[in-house]
Amino acid sequence: MTDPTPPWQWDEPTWRGHVDQVRAGRSLAPEAWPDGRRVAVAISFDSDHETPALRDGEVLPGKLAQGEYGARVGVPRILDLLEHQGVPATFFVPAVSALLHDGEVAAYAAAGHEVALHGWIHERNTALDRDSERDLMLRAADVLERQAGTRPTGLRTPSWDFSAATLDLVRELGLAYDSSLMADDEPYELLSRGEPTGVVELPVEWIRDDAPYFMMERFASLRPYTPPREVGRIWRDEFDAARAQGGLFQLTLHPHIIGHRSRMVVLAELLEHIAGTGDAWFATHADVVAHVGTRLAGAEPGVTA
Ligand SMILES: [Zn+2]
Repeated sequence: MTDPTPPWQWDEPTWRGHVDQVRAGRSLAPEAWPDGRRVAVAISFDSDHETPALRDGEVLPGKLAQGEYGARVGVPRILDLLEHQGVPATFFVPAVSALLHDGEVAAYAAAGHEVALHGWIHERNTALDRDSERDLMLRAADVLERQAGTRPTGLRTPSWDFSAATLDLVRELGLAYDSSLMADDEPYELLSRGEPTGVVELPVEWIRDDAPYFMMERFASLRPYTPPREVGRIWRDEFDAARAQGGLFQLTLHPHIIGHRSRMVVLAELLEHIAGTGDAWFATHADVVAHVGTRLAGAEPGVTA
C-alpha cells in the first residue's frame, strides 16, 4: 500500500496524482445571497456525544459521561437558544448517537433543523476499506432517514478527511454536498481526478470549530485551553470579515463541548451580534448548498466561474 519511494524522489506524475485525487474546482461563491442578504451564516453541530470514545474503545463510564452530557444537557440548551434566536442549523449525527438518544434526531427535524451524515460510530473513515466505508455510510443514512423522516443530503466525515473511496461513495449515494475539507472560505465544487463531480464542498476550518480551543486530555501534558470569550472574539472577527466580503460564515460546534454554561454565553452573544447586523442569512448547510448549487446547473464542465 505505502509507496516506499521517499517523496523527494517522486516523479511529477506521482506528486501531481496525489494532489489531483480530490481537489477544489470552481468557486461557487454566489453573486448574491437570497433576499439581498449580505452574508450567509451556516451554524452546525456535530452531535458526537459518546461516539468518539466508543470508536476508540474507551468504554469506562467517565469518558462516556462527558459525551452523555452533550445529549443530556448540551442539546436541550442549544435547541432552546436556536429557537429563541430563530436560527436554523445543521446537525451532523453519527448513527450510534442517534440510536443511543431516542428522540433527539426527531427533535432536530421537528424544530426545522437539518440532519446530516457523520458516520456510524464516528469511525476513522480514512482507515476503512471501500466496502466497510460504504456499508457504514448506507446504514447510517438508513438510521437518520428513519428518525428524521427525510434522507440526509449531506455528509461531514468523522475524520474531516477522505479515503480513496469517499468521494466516489458520496456520488454513489447521490449526496449534494460534503462539509469536511478546507480549500476555501467559500463553497466550491469538488473535482475527482480532475473531473468536476457536481458535489458541493461547504468548507470547514479548525479556526471555526470549538474542539481545538476547549478539548483537553486528562493524562496528556498538552491542554490547549482558550478562554471562551477569546474564542467568541475570533469567531466574531471571522463573521465580520465574511460579512465585509459578502461571503459565508460557517461554524462547527459540538453539544458536549459548547454546551457548557460559560461557553453557551459566548454562542448566544455571537448569534446576537450576527442578528444585530440585520442583513445576515441564517441557513442550514443544505439551504446554502441549494442556493450556490444553481451555479452548477447548466454550466459547462471544467469551466472556471
Ligand atoms: Zn465529530
